[in-house]
Amino acid sequence: MAKQPSQKENRCTFCGLPESETGQLISGLHGFICKSCVEQAGEIYKKYYKSSEIATLDAIPIPTPREIKEHLDRYVIGQDDAKKVLSVAVYNHYKRLNYNARNNKGNDTEIEKTNIIVVGETGTGKTLMARTIAKILHVPFCIADATTLTEAGYVGDDVENVLVRLLQAADYDVAAAERGIVFIDEIDKIARKSDNPSITRDVSGEGVQQAMLKLLEGAVVNVPPQGGRKHPEQKMIAVNTQNILFIAGGAFDGIERDIASRMKTSVIGFSGTKTREEINQHNLLQYIQPMDLKKFGLIPELVGRFPMVTHLQPLDRDALLRILTEPKNALVKQYTELFKMDNVQLTFDQAALELIVDKAVEYKLGARGLRSIVETVMTDIMFDLPAHRGSSITITAETVGEHLGNLETMKS
Ligand code: ADP
Repeated sequence: MAKQPSQKENRCTFCGLPESETGQLISGLHGFICKSCVEQAGEIYKKYYKSSEIATLDAIPIPTPREIKEHLDRYVIGQDDAKKVLSVAVYNHYKRLNYNARNNKGNDTEIEKTNIIVVGETGTGKTLMARTIAKILHVPFCIADATTLTEAGYVGDDVENVLVRLLQAADYDVAAAERGIVFIDEIDKIARKSDNPSITRDVSGEGVQQAMLKLLEGAVVNVPPQGGRKHPEQKMIAVNTQNILFIAGGAFDGIERDIASRMKTSVIGFSGTKTREEINQHNLLQYIQPMDLKKFGLIPELVGRFPMVTHLQPLDRDALLRILTEPKNALVKQYTELFKMDNVQLTFDQAALELIVDKAVEYKLGARGLRSIVETVMTDIMFDLPAHRGSSITITAETVGEHLGNLETMKS
């Protein structure tokens, strides 16, 4: 917002009224717009947006897989395989939306969507990747935790609450929600447990899986706008899930055993294409197949609705070090900015960064632990930060070491 330094009074380029009548004008490259024209344009856009899906989709340029991957690279360290798979899948998903929207009258080829399962240890970037993709595409995004669905029991209704969150993320714009992305976290926790006699909550897992099918296959689902089931009087909102992209993530602890035994059999039976030497025993996840997910306890119908399976690598020391400093919103960058606001120049020396990573590895906290460790180290310093205005602070290994006492409590 700016007033041009001109003798003549500025006018709204749209309605022609002078600033003295319209109130503050917003300036653009070649003109001005007043508040009332902005509001009117907003109304027109909203109407058009709701009535013409094709126009809206065309209006949002879909980045190419390479562009999606490059964007992911700015936020997510490593995980190249998964980035490629997700970039292509998301690109195809939105191409498919355009195609089906244009050809919905009398066309015989309907392109089906490809929901994706991402398998990888906790804290390796599954949620981060889904969230980053949603940001590039400017579509509503929500995270649903599969374990909460389990706990609420196996009555199907609860599964609909996943869509409540998506509706909320879309500001209750149903058309926008119907093109959104849902990340279902901890999908492995609703696996059927029948192989394990000590666990009796088998049915709840399988019950939720069954209920979830309805969401995944593209049905019109009635969603209680406020969530929950205790308000029978509330008006339901019908949401068509056909074009919602579901990305599910899970650690699938122990699935390597299933992969190993499958691969061993195929190598011995000479049916595999890889010899035993070629198989990388340290990262068996890269060989994951839908059949392994079934063996783990996902019902075949559910696995069938996630045609794409990809994996994330465990994060090693190098990756953790890069996560601290490289991503666009890396912790070190965030703290440097925070300190800058107080006119303090902050630097971390290399030994300090390495010690932070060592502690994250030692306490098995992974990438998620980096923040808690850095925060613990920085709290005292930040407490007195205003007193250091105009100076510079270097975080050394000793500074980190001084706070080891506090860090020890994180071990438990
Ligand atoms: P999960 O795999 O359990 O979904 P998240 O994506 O939630 O893990 O990761 C937790 C946090 O750890 C993220 O907010 C991010 O700061 C960091 N992180 C994890 N993996 C990566 C990665 N590959 N690149 C950058 N940051 C990462």
